[in-house]
Amino acid sequence: MGGRVPTAAHGLAMRTILVVEDEPKIATLVRDYLSAAGFSVLIAGDGDDALRQAKSARPDLMVLDLGLPKRDGLDVIRDVRRFSEMPIVILTARGDESDRIVGLELGGDDYVVKPFSPKELVARVRAIFRRSERNAAPSDVIHAGDITVDTQRLRVTVGDRVVDLTATEMQLLAKLAAEPGRVFTRGQLLDAVHGVAFESYERAIDGHIKNIRRKVEPDPSRPRYILTVYGVGYRFTDQFREQR
Ligand code: CA
Repeated sequence: MGGRVPTAAHGLAMRTILVVEDEPKIATLVRDYLSAAGFSVLIAGDGDDALRQAKSARPDLMVLDLGLPKRDGLDVIRDVRRFSEMPIVILTARGDESDRIVGLELGGDDYVVKPFSPKELVARVRAIFRRSERNAAPSDVIHAGDITVDTQRLRVTVGDRVVDLTATEMQLLAKLAAEPGRVFTRGQLLDAVHGVAFESYERAIDGHIKNIRRKVEPDPSRPRYILTVYGVGYRFTDQFREQR
């Protein structure tokens, strides 16, 4: 809604976010916060409109409520992924863990649980854009605090100490560390170790994570690097990003 403003003050193209939400109050609130943060915002009130605008306006990111009229949010993700790689932040109702997981596995990039803080949503959106900038110039070596993960040479150090990880542990850590802040479901992590792990049960991931933590975390009972996302999976911290 409203015209798109082509440039921001610093001369970079202003980023456009498509907000898909059928509750007008929430849509307006989200639009106001994102606009104040310097984004250009479009609103779609149902799943069909979301697809139409995603195709015609080519936004840079989509904020997507899952409970929508006409076309369910999960269907929207599935359809959008046929023609676009734009990041998608899912809005889910509290308790809808399975939708959250399916949403991430269909190609959602992150999620926020309703009722949510608009500030938190803005922070997530910014984090995704930072991540995509970093991935445009991918680095094989990831530094976070005392830990260094060389995803090509498959070598991990904590301080000066080289950490001995199994092949499966190394693949999991490399997957997580390659995108700090991104939530991975157990299913996605299981896919990442396909061909190495024989476990078919997603909970096996928890055992591997426990072992990695024991080897790299200063205090495995209070992890700093590999964080648990309750009911969903894990993410590598993005807390150290600004130091690099
Ligand atoms: Ca809704």
